[in-house]
Amino acid sequence: MEKRFIYADNAATTAVSEEVLTAMLPYFREGYGNASSIYKLGRDAQKAVETAREKVAKALGAEPREIYFTSCGSESDNWAIKGTAELMAKKGKKHIITSVFEHHAVLHTCEYLEKHGFEVTYIPVSDKGLLDPEDIRKAIREDTALVTIMYANNEIGTIQPIDEIAAICHEKGVLFHTDAVQAVGHIDIDVHKQGIDMLSLSGHKIHAQKGIGALYVRKGIALPNFVHGGGQERGKRAGTENVPAIVGLGVAIEAATRDIAGKNAVITPRRNRLIDGILKLPYTRLNGDRDKRLPGNLNISIEGIEGESLLLLLDMNGICASSGSACTSGSLDPSHVLLSIGLEHAVAHGSLRLSIEENVTDEDVDYILEVIPKVVDRLRSMSPVWEKMMKGQKYA
Ligand code: PLP
Repeated sequence: MEKRFIYADNAATTAVSEEVLTAMLPYFREGYGNASSIYKLGRDAQKAVETAREKVAKALGAEPREIYFTSCGSESDNWAIKGTAELMAKKGKKHIITSVFEHHAVLHTCEYLEKHGFEVTYIPVSDKGLLDPEDIRKAIREDTALVTIMYANNEIGTIQPIDEIAAICHEKGVLFHTDAVQAVGHIDIDVHKQGIDMLSLSGHKIHAQKGIGALYVRKGIALPNFVHGGGQERGKRAGTENVPAIVGLGVAIEAATRDIAGKNAVITPRRNRLIDGILKLPYTRLNGDRDKRLPGNLNISIEGIEGESLLLLLDMNGICASSGSACTSGSLDPSHVLLSIGLEHAVAHGSLRLSIEENVTDEDVDYILEVIPKVVDRLRSMSPVWEKMMKGQKYA
């Protein structure tokens, strides 16, 4: 078996595409103007920013004036949540609803608000990693300022019933924000049709560069400024525009949303083959609903091994994968997402996430399915936990 290099960690980040880089390059040297300057060099930069805004808006079914550029998905989440909190606190509404398995950009923002006089309700998810919209209905109160629920989970890829949640929020007159960082480019989104009030996205998950994001805010919502300073982004988010990154995001989102169904028709069968192949190993389980999940995502717990060791051995075989969220790897705590769907600590520790795109070929899938059983066998043969399991002893 010849060693290959396979990048199967697109949920962590993606490479800047050729198309995106080509579009960005002129704005580093020839087109370096400040988008606020009135001479042609500046006006051209401004035009490029507005063209990108139109592309982002079109990809989401929004209007250009509803799109604000930010520095990343985390900033978009922070702005939407803290901004709405500030806005609604003036009306005496200091209650926020979110889920237990959000990304830390949302969870830590909610925890911050709890320290500043807000109350947060954390909605649980089922063992399949899905939220019940009725739980949200029950949690909404007179003083609820915001419901913020992720579109698709970054670890287990489960897609939440966003349309139903949005409908409940509207019925109850509560604003609804969704962190769609993992969903954009993989699922068709139309914010107006779906009744989404605010949506966060990030460039580096869709082949734009790291450090660029956007927040969609439905017109009519007077979200307060987040970054104070100059009058950029219609006075809402100060800071000289990162023109090359913004241009790149526009091109990236246009490309990512061009043919979502076509891409998914290629990715999903390969992903399913990976799931079925890995699940042939004893003591494994798929985390998250099999169908209501991102097309390229699989997350499998492999008992009797440590996720980190698995990743190292996969890396030695040229496979880039992840165990839990990229942002939490390096921490010894098991993933809050895996615990939220009811996994025991020991099982959560031995989880593998692969997130593939269409460049992972059928031959790559064959290769991964050849490497994983060997690596797992090797790790289990050295594992005291596995030895105890095989002797029928309790190990957790
Ligand atoms: N939200 C989700 C669901 C994510 O997966 C990530 C990144 O992994 C973020 C937010 C943060 O995005 P960024 O890295 O652009 O700050």
